[in-house]
Amino acid sequence: KCADVHSEAKTKGDVVEKEVDVAGLPKTEPVYYTDTKLTECKSKIIKIIGNYVVLDKTVFYPTGGGQQHDNGTLGSAKVVDVVKVKGIILHEVESTAGLKVGQIVEGKIDAGRRKRLARNHDSAHMLVGASRAILGKHIWQAGSHIEPEKGRLDITHYQNLTEAEKLEIEKLANKIISEKRKITKTLMPRNEAEEKYGFLLYQGGAVPGKHLRVVNIENFDTEACGGTHNTNTSEIEQIKILKTEKIQDGVIRLVFVAGKDLIVTKELDEKGLLENTLNVLAKFGVKGKTADIGELGAASQVFKVKLEDLPKTFERFFSEMKDNRERIEDLEKSLGQKPEGGEALLVKELNSAQDLSVVARVVFEHWKGQGKRIEQMESQLAAKRADILLATAKKIGSADVVITEEGSFELAIKIANAIIGKNKEALAIISSVDKSLAAAGEKCKIDCVKVLQSLVVDAKVNGNAKRAIGIGEIKLNEKEIIEKIKAYSR
Ligand SMILES: [Zn+2]
Repeated sequence: KCADVHSEAKTKGDVVEKEVDVAGLPKTEPVYYTDTKLTECKSKIIKIIGNYVVLDKTVFYPTGGGQQHDNGTLGSAKVVDVVKVKGIILHEVESTAGLKVGQIVEGKIDAGRRKRLARNHDSAHMLVGASRAILGKHIWQAGSHIEPEKGRLDITHYQNLTEAEKLEIEKLANKIISEKRKITKTLMPRNEAEEKYGFLLYQGGAVPGKHLRVVNIENFDTEACGGTHNTNTSEIEQIKILKTEKIQDGVIRLVFVAGKDLIVTKELDEKGLLENTLNVLAKFGVKGKTADIGELGAASQVFKVKLEDLPKTFERFFSEMKDNRERIEDLEKSLGQKPEGGEALLVKELNSAQDLSVVARVVFEHWKGQGKRIEQMESQLAAKRADILLATAKKIGSADVVITEEGSFELAIKIANAIIGKNKEALAIISSVDKSLAAAGEKCKIDCVKVLQSLVVDAKVNGNAKRAIGIGEIKLNEKEIIEKIKAYSR
């Protein structure tokens, strides 16, 4: 039996194992182990369990060893997932209609998907070999994940790769590709394999089984692996490392892609993304910047967004900063403060920033600073408004009632808080656009919910005796409001 290696997370097989009883079924012959170029194969249906079809032999690679499964068709049925449970390969089909136990059926895999998976899996092995050659013998594979569109490889290394190391590794891997080295897969007894290749075979940890499937890239890398590999490095065409990052202490992740078609698409994507980002910056007065994809990555990390979301994130921050600026100017006027300005300075700072990640950080800090400033000024304004309003409060019983209208509901809340903070007998009734609120000081005995319910027609009022919010505006004048409150406090 040949085992899978390099697996990291729980596969779907682990989950399916609990649901599907495969006891007594013969192990499926994995045709893909011996011939990875075969894309079609006639097989006999052994059993159908729910939407899972079991065959005597198969060309379909099941998810495992960090590599994703093949897709394709079984007769006219579409195969959407393939998992392996205790050596039995389960083909999940969309529908089992037309499939019968005992029937001979033609299995066909999606050859394009297999090709991309094989290239990316080859590349994972190539990059282990290249990393060890460039960085040193301490490099081991700590995990890998192979998808059709990209692959990732985790290696044991203490710090993230420098740009130079990354390029050197990529260059060496591409040199091995150009040398057209053979990739062989040999099933061999465990002790023989260990004697020949040593413990480097066990990249992903211990491998069970008396036999190992050894994948060997001629004079470059040897690993025990069950994946679908090509037969020559030239078939990989080209490898590109998209990014590297430290994912935990002592583990560095390489994200890569193989095959010229995928790399070309990727580079076009990157070029477009770069252009879009620089266009957004230029629109807001930050001009003449250049950047590479690495800087884009660093900038996107500042905002904690995906790389492809960077242009619209910059756009959003710039537009929010503009709104904030207007709000600050209004507040400065209301508070009688001298305008702080500083926008021209900001643009100057952004224009002199060395790279995009610095631009991103300056933008982010500025935006954060504006938020704090607005918060602070609104509290100041609220305190000032509270003083003015309390000076003209109406006495109803022992309560000091303040009735007012405010343009912003957020400010209304702050004013209400300031009023009841300053005067424990206060009752604040504030109307704002389509909402209204009531807040009562510690010693005030008037029930806010009841009061608001009487003031707003058909109101939906939420809250408690001390604080309530009503959806809907108060359409009464001050005199009418006072009459209503008097009715309650009596
Ligand atoms: Zn492998």
